[in-house]
Amino acid sequence: MERQPERERLLAQIEQEVRLTRDLIGRDRLDPRVREAMLQVPRHLFVPEYLRGDAYLDAPLPIGHGQTISQPYIVALMTDLLQLPAHAMVLEVGTGSGYQSAVLSRIAERVYSLELTVPLAEAAAERLRELGYGNVEVKVGDGYLGWPEHGPYDGIIVTAAADHTPAALVAQLKPGAKLVLPVGRGFSGQELLVVTKEGPESARTQQVLPVSFVPLRHSEGSAD
Ligand code: SAH
Repeated sequence: MERQPERERLLAQIEQEVRLTRDLIGRDRLDPRVREAMLQVPRHLFVPEYLRGDAYLDAPLPIGHGQTISQPYIVALMTDLLQLPAHAMVLEVGTGSGYQSAVLSRIAERVYSLELTVPLAEAAAERLRELGYGNVEVKVGDGYLGWPEHGPYDGIIVTAAADHTPAALVAQLKPGAKLVLPVGRGFSGQELLVVTKEGPESARTQQVLPVSFVPLRHSEGSAD
């Protein structure tokens, strides 16, 4: 595995941060499936070439178009918070570089990922195909509306900050499944939430920790 010592150092750092935040996140270690996925996915192939040297730092990095690839600790935490069952069907909103999709694809049966920025969607789809992540499907679309054709899902993850919890996404969850998303306006004051669907009309929301994501944009004509 390329750059293995750096990957192992990053994983150790993530696990340390998990222990430090245990009281907020309600766990003191990662699901072994998440650890393995974080170790296996080559983050340096998802960042622009000039940033490859920094790819195994626990930091977000710019990916162009004003967007970022999330901090690895946050990727690992959000993946863990989904608590995916075996053979899960997962929806991701905000494909970006495709890194989070690749991590999910190691754990889920299929990953459907929506991206509003056309060139990012195209580049991510090509990158995922070239790297052999054949169980990920990327589509240009507005995450506020979800992707109902493939739902309901065993988990939904949103990697940009929504201004509210989109009702369409809660509607596309299976009973018992979780929606993990940052909510808040502006870069400060966002909270990572876990919304668990309890019944056809009921859901429970837990606040996990303060986070800082790029905004989930509204597309023209989106009603939600
Ligand atoms: N998960 C990504 C990080 C994504 S950053 C990764 O691993 O690299 C957030 C992404 O959400 C950006 O690419 C942005 O273009 C996209 N985005 C913003 N608003 C959106 C919307 N309404 N629907 C879908 N994608 C959206």
